[in-house]
Amino acid sequence: MQATNASRAREADPASGRIQRSNSLVEDVYEAIFAQLMSLKIAPGSRITVDSLVKELEVSHTPIREALGRLEGEGLVLKTHLIGYRAAPQITRRRFDELYELRLLLEPHAAAKAAALMDETKLAVLEESAGGMARREGKDERLRYSNFARQDAIFHDRIMEFANNDLVRETLAFQHTHFHIFRLMFHSRVTEEALDEHQAILAAFAACDPAAAEQAMRRHIEHSRDRLLPAFD
Ligand SMILES: [Zn+2]
Repeated sequence: MQATNASRAREADPASGRIQRSNSLVEDVYEAIFAQLMSLKIAPGSRITVDSLVKELEVSHTPIREALGRLEGEGLVLKTHLIGYRAAPQITRRRFDELYELRLLLEPHAAAKAAALMDETKLAVLEESAGGMARREGKDERLRYSNFARQDAIFHDRIMEFANNDLVRETLAFQHTHFHIFRLMFHSRVTEEALDEHQAILAAFAACDPAAAEQAMRRHIEHSRDRLLPAFD
């Protein structure tokens, strides 16, 4: 969860002086390529040439290679010796089914546990995270979409953190689920409908109601699966 942590750190400390300034170019380049991958401007499986990104983003090779290395760590970019970089292929239907089966096995139960352990501080963290997805600032639809994907990943990861089982959390984080599912289609429906479902999960957390949290999480994951299934038609 390298990128997630990095973006969280930036949000937590917006004026983090020298470090942020020296990192900001790589950060910006990373965000730009991430947004292109999420919104399918760079198609799954297609080649990514460093030279064309140098021209397009008007930066040198170094930050682009650094950003691509980070995206490789997140499973979004593949590097082949002597050939170069390409975008990770779209997940297969089989993989999609497996991912959602895994999510349905782990996340509703974890949400129930998180609800039982909920307190004001944790609730505020989750509300802030969900609020970040609802804000529709900025005109760039691609950036908004990629921000939503990242925030959704953080939101779900935080719930796993509060459920207090590191192995479950790591298992889900290792799949980079949200980065892969958001690349199945670039459509506002994917983000709009999820907002209401997140609210239902938050309401169950606010009420410290494990059964309601379990049900709300199951419903959210099932609806998410149904929204994305047409990508395989
Ligand atoms: Zn979600």
